[in-house]
Amino acid sequence: MNQKTYFISVDMEGVTDVTAWCETEKNGEDYERARRQMSLETAAACQAILEAGHLAVVRDGHDYARNVLHELLPRGVKLMRGWACHPGSMMAGVDEKYAGALYVGYHSPAGTNGSPLAHTMNKNKVRWLKINRKIASEFTLNSLYAAQMGVPSIFISGDETICRLASGEIPQITTAPVKECRGNSTFNLHPADAIDLIKEKAAEALKNPAPLRPLPEEYVMEVCLTSHQSVRTALAHPAIRQTDDSTVSYTARSPKEVNVMFEYILQC
Ligand SMILES: [Zn+2]
Repeated sequence: MNQKTYFISVDMEGVTDVTAWCETEKNGEDYERARRQMSLETAAACQAILEAGHLAVVRDGHDYARNVLHELLPRGVKLMRGWACHPGSMMAGVDEKYAGALYVGYHSPAGTNGSPLAHTMNKNKVRWLKINRKIASEFTLNSLYAAQMGVPSIFISGDETICRLASGEIPQITTAPVKECRGNSTFNLHPADAIDLIKEKAAEALKNPAPLRPLPEEYVMEVCLTSHQSVRTALAHPAIRQTDDSTVSYTARSPKEVNVMFEYILQC
Protein backbone atom coordinates (compact mmCIF):
# COMPACT_ATOMS: atom_id res chain seq x y z
CA MET A 1 0.00 0.00 0.00
CA ASN A 2 1.08 3.52 -0.70
CA GLN A 3 1.76 5.00 2.74
CA LYS A 4 1.06 8.72 2.93
CA THR A 5 1.73 11.37 5.55
CA TYR A 6 -0.95 13.79 6.71
CA PHE A 7 -0.49 17.16 8.40
CA ILE A 8 -2.82 18.10 11.27
CA SER A 9 -3.01 21.75 12.37
CA VAL A 10 -4.57 22.09 15.80
CA ASP A 11 -6.21 25.02 17.55
CA MET A 12 -8.11 25.16 20.82
CA GLU A 13 -11.09 27.54 20.57
CA GLY A 14 -13.05 25.07 18.42
CA VAL A 15 -12.65 22.12 20.80
CA THR A 16 -15.88 20.89 22.42
CA ASP A 17 -16.87 22.66 25.66
CA VAL A 18 -14.23 25.42 25.28
CA THR A 19 -16.25 28.61 25.77
CA ALA A 20 -14.24 31.31 27.57
CA TRP A 21 -10.82 32.86 26.95
CA CYS A 22 -9.52 31.76 30.36
CA GLU A 23 -9.90 28.14 29.26
CA THR A 24 -7.56 28.77 26.31
CA GLU A 25 -4.81 30.54 28.24
CA LYS A 26 -1.93 28.86 29.99
CA ASN A 27 -2.55 28.92 33.75
CA GLY A 28 -6.16 30.00 33.08
CA GLU A 29 -9.17 28.44 34.76
CA ASP A 30 -9.93 25.03 33.17
CA TYR A 31 -7.00 25.32 30.74
CA GLU A 32 -5.68 21.88 31.69
CA ARG A 33 -9.05 20.35 30.93
CA ALA A 34 -9.26 22.17 27.57
CA ARG A 35 -5.75 21.15 26.49
CA ARG A 36 -6.52 17.54 27.39
CA GLN A 37 -9.64 17.54 25.22
CA MET A 38 -7.70 19.34 22.45
CA SER A 39 -5.16 16.52 22.63
CA LEU A 40 -7.80 13.79 22.61
CA GLU A 41 -9.63 15.32 19.61
CA THR A 42 -6.28 15.48 17.81
CA ALA A 43 -5.59 11.87 18.81
CA ALA A 44 -8.91 10.86 17.22
CA ALA A 45 -7.89 12.32 13.86
CA CYS A 46 -4.45 10.67 14.20
CA GLN A 47 -6.09 7.33 14.98
CA ALA A 48 -8.14 7.50 11.77
CA ILE A 49 -4.96 8.19 9.79
CA LEU A 50 -2.96 5.40 11.44
CA GLU A 51 -5.79 2.88 11.08
CA ALA A 52 -5.89 3.66 7.34
CA GLY A 53 -2.18 2.72 7.23
CA HIS A 54 -0.75 6.22 6.97
CA LEU A 55 1.39 8.55 9.10
CA ALA A 56 0.36 11.72 10.95
CA VAL A 57 2.34 14.82 11.90
CA VAL A 58 0.69 17.31 14.27
CA ARG A 59 1.40 21.05 14.43
CA ASP A 60 0.25 22.76 17.60
CA GLY A 61 -1.15 26.10 16.40
CA HIS A 62 -2.65 27.69 19.49
CA ASP A 63 -1.26 30.63 21.45
CA TYR A 64 2.30 29.68 22.40
CA ALA A 65 1.98 26.42 20.40
CA ARG A 66 2.78 24.14 23.32
CA ASN A 67 -0.63 22.86 24.33
CA VAL A 68 -1.07 19.37 22.89
CA LEU A 69 -0.03 16.62 25.32
CA HIS A 70 2.08 14.36 23.14
CA GLU A 71 1.56 11.36 25.40
CA LEU A 72 -2.16 11.45 24.61
CA LEU A 73 -1.48 11.03 20.87
CA PRO A 74 -0.99 7.54 19.43
CA ARG A 75 2.56 6.16 19.30
CA GLY A 76 4.36 7.05 16.09
CA VAL A 77 2.80 10.51 15.72
CA LYS A 78 5.28 13.38 15.62
CA LEU A 79 4.38 16.73 17.17
CA MET A 80 5.61 20.19 16.14
CA ARG A 81 5.69 22.44 19.24
CA GLY A 82 6.51 26.14 19.56
CA TRP A 83 6.55 28.71 16.78
CA ALA A 84 8.80 28.17 13.78
CA CYS A 85 9.41 31.90 13.06
CA HIS A 86 8.05 31.23 9.60
CA PRO A 87 5.14 32.76 7.61
CA GLY A 88 3.44 29.35 7.60
CA SER A 89 2.39 30.17 11.18
CA MET A 90 -0.22 27.54 12.19
CA MET A 91 0.84 25.57 9.09
CA ALA A 92 4.60 25.99 9.47
CA GLY A 93 6.22 22.71 8.47
CA VAL A 94 3.69 21.75 5.80
CA ASP A 95 5.23 21.02 2.39
CA GLU A 96 4.60 19.04 -0.76
CA LYS A 97 5.40 15.71 0.87
CA TYR A 98 2.07 15.76 2.74
CA ALA A 99 -0.91 14.06 1.13
CA GLY A 100 -3.46 16.25 2.89
CA ALA A 101 -4.10 18.72 5.68
CA LEU A 102 -6.57 18.25 8.52
CA TYR A 103 -7.70 20.94 10.96
CA VAL A 104 -8.81 20.17 14.53
CA GLY A 105 -10.30 22.61 17.06
CA TYR A 106 -10.78 25.41 14.53
CA HIS A 107 -13.09 28.33 15.27
CA SER A 108 -15.25 31.06 13.74
CA PRO A 109 -13.47 34.13 12.39
CA ALA A 110 -13.61 37.68 13.71
CA GLY A 111 -16.65 39.48 12.33
CA THR A 112 -19.00 36.50 12.76
CA ASN A 113 -21.25 35.39 15.64
CA GLY A 114 -20.27 31.71 15.40
CA SER A 115 -18.43 31.48 18.71
CA PRO A 116 -17.93 33.48 21.90
CA LEU A 117 -14.26 33.05 20.94
CA ALA A 118 -14.58 34.19 17.31
CA HIS A 119 -11.33 35.83 16.23
CA THR A 120 -8.74 35.85 13.48
CA MET A 121 -5.19 35.43 14.76
CA ASN A 122 -5.28 38.33 17.22
CA LYS A 123 -8.48 39.00 19.15
CA ASN A 124 -7.27 42.34 20.42
CA LYS A 125 -6.31 43.82 17.06
CA VAL A 126 -8.55 42.48 14.31
CA ARG A 127 -12.26 43.30 13.89
CA TRP A 128 -12.31 41.30 10.68
CA LEU A 129 -10.13 40.20 7.79
CA LYS A 130 -11.48 39.93 4.26
CA ILE A 131 -9.78 38.33 1.30
CA ASN A 132 -11.28 39.17 -2.08
CA ARG A 133 -14.28 40.76 -0.32
CA LYS A 134 -15.22 37.76 1.81
CA ILE A 135 -14.63 37.30 5.54
CA ALA A 136 -11.51 35.15 5.91
CA SER A 137 -10.86 32.82 8.84
CA GLU A 138 -7.69 31.20 10.10
CA PHE A 139 -8.88 28.19 8.12
CA THR A 140 -9.06 30.38 4.99
CA LEU A 141 -5.47 31.56 5.48
CA ASN A 142 -4.18 28.11 6.35
CA SER A 143 -5.94 26.18 3.61
CA LEU A 144 -4.76 28.70 1.01
CA TYR A 145 -1.24 28.35 2.34
CA ALA A 146 -1.49 24.54 2.21
CA ALA A 147 -2.78 24.77 -1.37
CA GLN A 148 0.22 26.90 -2.33
CA MET A 149 2.37 24.02 -1.02
CA GLY A 150 0.33 21.61 -3.14
CA VAL A 151 -1.52 20.12 -0.16
CA PRO A 152 -5.32 19.71 -0.23
CA SER A 153 -7.36 20.47 2.90
CA ILE A 154 -9.57 17.45 3.49
CA PHE A 155 -11.05 17.69 7.00
CA ILE A 156 -12.00 20.23 9.66
CA SER A 157 -13.46 19.95 13.15
CA GLY A 158 -14.54 22.87 15.28
CA ASP A 159 -17.59 25.03 15.81
CA GLU A 160 -20.55 24.72 13.49
CA THR A 161 -19.94 28.11 11.82
CA ILE A 162 -16.32 27.44 10.85
CA CYS A 163 -17.36 24.04 9.48
CA ARG A 164 -20.05 25.71 7.36
CA LEU A 165 -17.67 28.46 6.16
CA ALA A 166 -15.02 25.86 5.29
CA SER A 167 -17.58 23.94 3.22
CA GLY A 168 -18.43 27.18 1.43
CA GLU A 169 -14.77 27.57 0.47
CA ILE A 170 -14.04 23.89 -0.26
CA PRO A 171 -17.33 22.10 -0.99
CA GLN A 172 -15.79 18.59 -0.79
CA ILE A 173 -14.16 19.06 2.61
CA THR A 174 -15.41 16.70 5.35
CA THR A 175 -16.51 18.46 8.52
CA ALA A 176 -17.03 17.47 12.15
CA PRO A 177 -18.89 20.23 14.00
CA VAL A 178 -18.59 19.65 17.75
CA LYS A 179 -20.44 22.70 19.07
CA GLU A 180 -22.73 25.60 18.27
CA CYS A 181 -22.79 29.13 19.59
CA ARG A 182 -25.61 30.79 21.54
CA GLY A 183 -24.49 34.35 22.22
CA ASN A 184 -21.78 34.08 24.82
CA SER A 185 -22.52 30.40 25.43
CA THR A 186 -21.84 27.17 23.58
CA PHE A 187 -23.94 24.05 23.00
CA ASN A 188 -21.47 21.17 22.94
CA LEU A 189 -21.17 17.51 22.09
CA HIS A 190 -20.12 15.29 24.98
CA PRO A 191 -16.30 15.10 24.91
CA ALA A 192 -16.36 11.37 24.10
CA ASP A 193 -18.95 11.92 21.34
CA ALA A 194 -16.81 14.69 19.82
CA ILE A 195 -13.85 12.30 19.76
CA ASP A 196 -15.93 9.59 18.06
CA LEU A 197 -17.29 12.04 15.49
CA ILE A 198 -13.81 13.34 14.63
CA LYS A 199 -12.44 9.84 14.20
CA GLU A 200 -15.37 8.77 12.02
CA LYS A 201 -15.32 11.89 9.83
CA ALA A 202 -11.53 11.99 9.48
CA ALA A 203 -11.68 8.37 8.25
CA GLU A 204 -14.32 9.44 5.72
CA ALA A 205 -12.14 12.33 4.57
CA LEU A 206 -9.24 9.96 3.89
CA LYS A 207 -11.47 7.75 1.74
CA ASN A 208 -13.00 10.67 -0.12
CA PRO A 209 -10.46 13.51 0.00
CA ALA A 210 -11.29 17.02 -1.16
CA PRO A 211 -9.24 18.26 -4.13
CA LEU A 212 -6.69 21.07 -3.95
CA ARG A 213 -8.47 24.40 -3.50
CA PRO A 214 -8.01 26.68 -6.50
CA LEU A 215 -5.65 29.60 -5.97
CA PRO A 216 -6.70 33.04 -7.25
CA GLU A 217 -4.16 35.23 -9.00
CA GLU A 218 -4.44 37.99 -6.45
CA TYR A 219 -5.58 38.38 -2.87
CA VAL A 220 -7.10 41.70 -1.95
CA MET A 221 -6.69 41.77 1.81
CA GLU A 222 -8.74 44.19 3.88
CA VAL A 223 -8.05 44.31 7.59
CA CYS A 224 -10.38 46.18 9.93
CA LEU A 225 -8.37 47.01 13.03
CA THR A 226 -9.57 47.81 16.52
CA SER A 227 -7.44 50.94 16.78
CA HIS A 228 -6.99 53.85 14.39
CA GLN A 229 -3.45 54.19 15.71
CA SER A 230 -2.60 50.78 14.25
CA VAL A 231 -3.97 51.93 10.91
CA ARG A 232 -1.63 54.90 10.95
CA THR A 233 1.34 52.72 11.86
CA ALA A 234 0.54 50.21 9.09
CA LEU A 235 0.49 53.00 6.50
CA ALA A 236 4.27 53.30 6.85
CA HIS A 237 4.39 50.40 4.38
CA PRO A 238 4.30 51.94 0.88
CA ALA A 239 1.92 49.34 -0.60
CA ILE A 240 -0.66 49.48 2.20
CA ARG A 241 -3.67 51.73 1.59
CA GLN A 242 -6.25 53.10 3.97
CA THR A 243 -9.87 52.36 3.01
CA ASP A 244 -11.56 54.00 6.01
CA ASP A 245 -10.68 55.17 9.53
CA SER A 246 -10.14 51.64 10.81
CA THR A 247 -9.40 49.59 7.68
CA VAL A 248 -6.29 49.03 5.60
CA SER A 249 -5.88 47.07 2.39
CA TYR A 250 -3.08 45.34 0.56
CA THR A 251 -3.04 43.23 -2.58
CA ALA A 252 -0.92 40.10 -2.33
CA ARG A 253 0.09 37.69 -5.06
CA SER A 254 0.29 34.50 -3.02
CA PRO A 255 -1.01 32.99 0.23
CA LYS A 256 2.49 33.20 1.66
CA GLU A 257 2.56 36.93 0.96
CA VAL A 258 -0.89 37.24 2.59
CA ASN A 259 0.53 35.68 5.75
CA VAL A 260 3.64 37.86 5.73
CA MET A 261 1.62 41.05 5.32
CA PHE A 262 -1.08 40.05 7.80
CA GLU A 263 1.65 39.40 10.35
CA TYR A 264 3.17 42.81 9.57
CA ILE A 265 -0.19 44.55 10.06
CA LEU A 266 -0.76 42.70 13.35
CA GLN A 267 2.49 44.11 14.65
CA CYS A 268 1.46 47.70 13.89
ZN1 LIG B 1 -6.26 29.43 19.10
